[in-house]
Amino acid sequence: AGLAPRWAEGLAAAAARFDFGGRDVAAWFPRHMAKGEGWGERGGRWTVTVLNNAHIPLSGRNPILQEVLGIRPHILVLNKMDLADPSRQPVILERLKQQRCSHVVFTDCKHDVNVKKIVPLVAKLVDNSPRYHRAESTEYSILVIGVPNVGKSSLINSLRRLHLKKGKATPVGGDPGVTKAVLTRIQVCEKPLMYLVDTPGVLAPKLGDVETGMKLAVCGAIHDHLVGEDIMADYLLYALNRQQQFRYVQRYGLAEACDDIGLVLKHVALAQGRTQKVKVLTGTGNVNMVMLNYPAAAYEFLRDFRAGRLGRVTLD
Ligand code: GDP
Repeated sequence: AGLAPRWAEGLAAAAARFDFGGRDVAAWFPRHMAKGEGWGERGGRWTVTVLNNAHIPLSGRNPILQEVLGIRPHILVLNKMDLADPSRQPVILERLKQQRCSHVVFTDCKHDVNVKKIVPLVAKLVDNSPRYHRAESTEYSILVIGVPNVGKSSLINSLRRLHLKKGKATPVGGDPGVTKAVLTRIQVCEKPLMYLVDTPGVLAPKLGDVETGMKLAVCGAIHDHLVGEDIMADYLLYALNRQQQFRYVQRYGLAEACDDIGLVLKHVALAQGRTQKVKVLTGTGNVNMVMLNYPAAAYEFLRDFRAGRLGRVTLD
């Protein structure tokens, strides 16, 4: 309480960070693709699987896809569950149900948690779908859609580990947009025969509001430098305080929770060694001074959050 968000005070400045002026921040997901146009529904019986970050189970949803999702079986996979607050799961599931999204699986693709639930769920939804009652094919295909860095490659690798006992099929990277814009089908299961098509990471062409944009940025869906680590760190501090997640206080050796990002970053820099010794020439000779590297500290703060070191947080 009483911890006013500085980033929100400068809302206009924050909003300006999301005016990318037509720059290519992420490959927009072409609507026709999810409808089945363009890739010709190869493989016969498709489900669409939307992968979302469990940190932002509600605000990370892409409104543009709603229309498309109405026309075929779909499931929502909330990945990185290991980083999100488990106590919030029931209320999140309830909210999603109200939004007519009832097939939800929380996963941790790094450790194969709950990933085993996906193949049977896909098979059940497709088998029960009137759309495919007369389909000749017995194969199943999954079209995976999700913002950059949500874990699409990790999901593919996890499915293959579990069902094919095979190693990596796709590179996993920490950079948004690493996933290639190729729509090749990758086998993920033998019995039943199931394929998966990875799509380039997508963001809604117009980010709904600045806070949604901030949440996506903090979760790594937008290149950090496009939004700016400074303002993202400021938003993250506000969000942690709002959620009463005060693990940062102890981690960085602060006396108490605060809303001053400058002060927090100073402690991050000192605690994590983001400092530089410089010699300054003064009237009385050389003096050694310690400079704090604030950009590096802001990046460290974000990295700690993304690695779960600041607690398990659900931002919605
Ligand atoms: P993509 O861009 O959607 O293909 O995402 P990647 O699969 O390349 O994953 C992005 C980053 O998130 C990588 O550093 C992964 O190791 C990490 N990651 C993926 N799934 C999980 C998960 O369930 N939990 C955690 N903690 N990290 C994950």
